[in-house]
Amino acid sequence: MSVVAAQFNVGHLDLLDTARTSMDAAGYDKVVLAGNYVAGVAIGKCVDGAYTTADTLDAVLNKK
Ligand SMILES: Cc1cc2nc3c(=O)[nH]c(=O)nc-3n(C[C@H](O)[C@H](O)[C@H](O)COP(=O)(O)OP(=O)(O)OC[C@H]3O[C@@H](n4cnc5c(N)ncnc54)[C@H](O)[C@@H]3O)c2cc1C
Repeated sequence: MSVVAAQFNVGHLDLLDTARTSMDAAGYDKVVLAGNYVAGVAIGKCVDGAYTTADTLDAVLNKK
């Protein structure tokens, strides 16, 4: 039996860029995408991503 690791589809990062750009253009500049579909599926990546998200939210909400 082979084990297949979960991974993003080809083009996923471009899709995320498009989503962020579209949200900014629509005025949702305080919405921050986060989670395994942004950071990576492994728990460690999700934890790293959570720290990045916290920094981003801090900067966005406090206009740094
Ligand atoms: C069966 C399985 C086995 C796995 N095994 C491993 C492994 O061995 N090693 C590994 O590194 N990774 C593993 N993973 C992957 C890893 O667990 C996930 O990628 C990671 O937990 C995702 O983290 P997340 O914060 O993005 O999402 P989640 O951990 O799903 O957290 C999202 C949270 O948001 C909450 N939520 C959802 N909607 C709302 C809402 N509208 N309002 C408020 N709260 C909401 C949910 O209740 C949940 O608590 C496994 C995943 C699965 C499914």
